[in-house]
Amino acid sequence: MNIRDSEIMAQKLAEAGYLETSVLEDASLILLNTCSVRGKAEQKVFSMLGSLRKLKAENPDLKICVAGCVAQQEGQKIIDRMEHVNLVIGTQHIYNIPELLERSTNNKTAINLSDSYEIPKYIPQVSGHPAPAPQISDSQQFQFSRFVTIMQGCNNFCTYCVVPYTRGREVSRKATDIVNEIQTLIEAGVVEITLLGQNVNSYGCTNPVTHGALPYSFPDLLAEVSSISGLQRLRFTTSHPKDLSERLIECFDQIDNLCPQIHLPVQSGSDRILKRMNRKYCISDYLEKVDLLKAIRPDIAITTDIIVGFPGETEEDFQQTLELLERVRYHGSFSFKYSDRPETRAADLDGKLSEAEKGRRLQEFQKRQDEISLERNREYVGYQKSILVENNSEGKMMGRTVTNHIVHVEQAPDHIVPGSLVTAEIIHAGRHSLKGAIPPSRI
Ligand code: SF4
Repeated sequence: MNIRDSEIMAQKLAEAGYLETSVLEDASLILLNTCSVRGKAEQKVFSMLGSLRKLKAENPDLKICVAGCVAQQEGQKIIDRMEHVNLVIGTQHIYNIPELLERSTNNKTAINLSDSYEIPKYIPQVSGHPAPAPQISDSQQFQFSRFVTIMQGCNNFCTYCVVPYTRGREVSRKATDIVNEIQTLIEAGVVEITLLGQNVNSYGCTNPVTHGALPYSFPDLLAEVSSISGLQRLRFTTSHPKDLSERLIECFDQIDNLCPQIHLPVQSGSDRILKRMNRKYCISDYLEKVDLLKAIRPDIAITTDIIVGFPGETEEDFQQTLELLERVRYHGSFSFKYSDRPETRAADLDGKLSEAEKGRRLQEFQKRQDEISLERNREYVGYQKSILVENNSEGKMMGRTVTNHIVHVEQAPDHIVPGSLVTAEIIHAGRHSLKGAIPPSRI
């Protein structure tokens, strides 16, 4: 979501005449788009802002702007703590960035945009915002695969999560706006689209989307988008397991260009901890859905998110997470130590674990996940896979399979350009990527 928001802000700034530079010292504006989902990400923002102080002293005309979830959450406190920051904008104001920058004059270091910190009643892009132009940034090397936001915010209030506070309640975009945006992207050469939302499975649930007189849900959107001519690959993220319906699972069988890959965050293998997290599913329900996904699409790659050391997590709870890992054999996972986030209910829960214990559990989980990822990746060796090429330079090519595995190909022919689909034989598997070779008959 942050990557997409950064793209939108870059596009808006480019439209307002800003040019991009990769040299920090040359910049007249530095914009940090921030994430507050974990304590560490937030600390990085303040550390980066601290290091920009010297630059601002040397160049008083430099504007420094903070956007994203830390901005939404901390608001005025950022300006109070970092007097060299010119502008702080909340998550719902990214479309207005050029105007907001206009309002922050050079000699006025603290801009109090109090309306930036309120949760808005609607998302600007929902109310008919034009489809963003596809070529928005020179720094984006791979223009053939793009994110398209279909909804924002979240109503789930998992007890550890700041998203409902920083991004507001769930709002779905109009289907016609989404389809128009994707059509524009495809006409510009994009071949792969990832539909994006905090919980795409509940698209159209809170503010019902209709198509003619009929109610319209996420599987309907998938079917409509998949049939847009020229779209080679379709993906979506993220799916809350409680809202993963049978109808949606069946889409993996029915929609040819829907990639066999799903990120299905489980967070813990213990029902007791899931309850404390307010996740609203139990492990048996989750496994039923995983089994159905595997039955309908045996080649599907499933990844997940895990939080270790949630308040009150016992050794037994943690062992249940390891058991789940053995049972599902995820292709990969993003795993983190629990950290308190402001305003969340988990921050007030008892049973906090020491950093050392959380670290031990994380290490144990990641060690086993790495082994399983390697075993999973070895299953591809010897098979030919379709690769969407992301870059190819000086004989080194990189692309992705439909299962989202990165494949490196050495001695790739020069004529293969980014955006093309090529077939490669997988010749070696690592933990995080594969190596392939293009069979002579495919060159
Ligand atoms: S579903 Fe839970 S973890 Fe995901 S964004 Fe919503 S509150 Fe956060």
